[in-house]
Amino acid sequence: MALEQALRDKIIASVERGFDEQISYTQELIRFRSVRGDEYVVQDRVFNELRSRGYAMERFDMDQGAIERHPGGSPFSEAHSRAPIVVGTHRPWSETGRSLILQAHVDVVPAGPESLWTHPPFDPVIEGDWLYGRGGADMKAGHAANLHALDALRRIGFQPAATVYVQSVVEEESTGNGALMTHLRGYKAEAVLIPEPEDEKLVRANVGVIWFQVEVRGLPVHVREMGTGANAIDAAYRVIGELRKIEADWNAQRHGRPHFEREEHPINLNIGKIEGGDWESSVPAWCRIGCRISIYPGVNAADAAREIKDRIAKFALADPFLSNIPPSVTFHGFHTEGYMLEPGSDAEQILAGAHQAATGKELQSFMTAGYLDTRVYALYDRIPALCYGPYSENIHGFNERVSVASLKRITTTIALFIAEWCGLEPIVL
Ligand code: ZN
Repeated sequence: MALEQALRDKIIASVERGFDEQISYTQELIRFRSVRGDEYVVQDRVFNELRSRGYAMERFDMDQGAIERHPGGSPFSEAHSRAPIVVGTHRPWSETGRSLILQAHVDVVPAGPESLWTHPPFDPVIEGDWLYGRGGADMKAGHAANLHALDALRRIGFQPAATVYVQSVVEEESTGNGALMTHLRGYKAEAVLIPEPEDEKLVRANVGVIWFQVEVRGLPVHVREMGTGANAIDAAYRVIGELRKIEADWNAQRHGRPHFEREEHPINLNIGKIEGGDWESSVPAWCRIGCRISIYPGVNAADAAREIKDRIAKFALADPFLSNIPPSVTFHGFHTEGYMLEPGSDAEQILAGAHQAATGKELQSFMTAGYLDTRVYALYDRIPALCYGPYSENIHGFNERVSVASLKRITTTIALFIAEWCGLEPIVL
């Protein structure tokens, strides 16, 4: 049942009233340098913030064994975060509505050279309509929007008439194991909303992602005998050439795949890291490249990983140097599958109505070619998994920024969505 106009107006005004506070909370979160493995303090901050609202709190660790046994689990490595997952639970007086998970991640990708930023990356400066900072758009602003959407309802004397879990996870930028852990822990609801920076659009389809590392070994000699020493860095270039062929082949397979066939280049291979060699005048004996590639929804991550391994092995056999010392391929991060959001769910319809009320525009959906935690809820809980959030620019780049006006609009959408999906009940003190 659609919300009455008067109630809708009250909710919109209430988001507005709490907005300054929401922005300063977002800025405070950006100040935490919560790169992979360093999310402990920001999770403490989030824990306290949720607890101060009276939510039932739980904080738990990753269960490595359980994650690795699950088909959606990604392998652990030395770099894997050990920071806890935080969940705050709202329980209504009477459970008459539909339950909901509001999820966000607090891990952020590295800032890169700070000299390339206009403002220091963890200094949350506002200029015009833009709030700058690493991890602001992606996605501390989203976490704050979840929380403040609930606050907006509370400010006018209401709370959701259904259980709502506010989840704050880590490892979204590297494995997706944080979201999977909430599933393994037993948290389940009838829908999930994740406000990633999606330009006020709803994600209809999303790729899976695989991380892998290729290590090439060579034979170190002095450069004057270069002809006899195998150069591991040169050999790694040849391996990259073969990886580009895999990428081209996978892109050629887009035909006949809904949401992908009209994209020019839906599958992206990123050579994200390279290291190797010890000395300018020694032929390098080793080279390691860190890679990320995406896969279509419906493609099994293990099958794709096997194809990568087999193709590199086959290529190495035909290469005079690599055939003697075959490169090793290890999978050390994302090992995840994509998903598609089936159109026509009640959840989507309510989100579209809320979006229309908040923005005056029709809700559009699109395919996004990066990993999203929504896949856990779509694939393993099989619930409507809505990924929808604010306008942003330069996420994962320099001068990452999120639109403040858009943030207000999507917070309004979320508040209206909660009100209608969960229903409301008066807060009785
Ligand atoms: Zn994100």
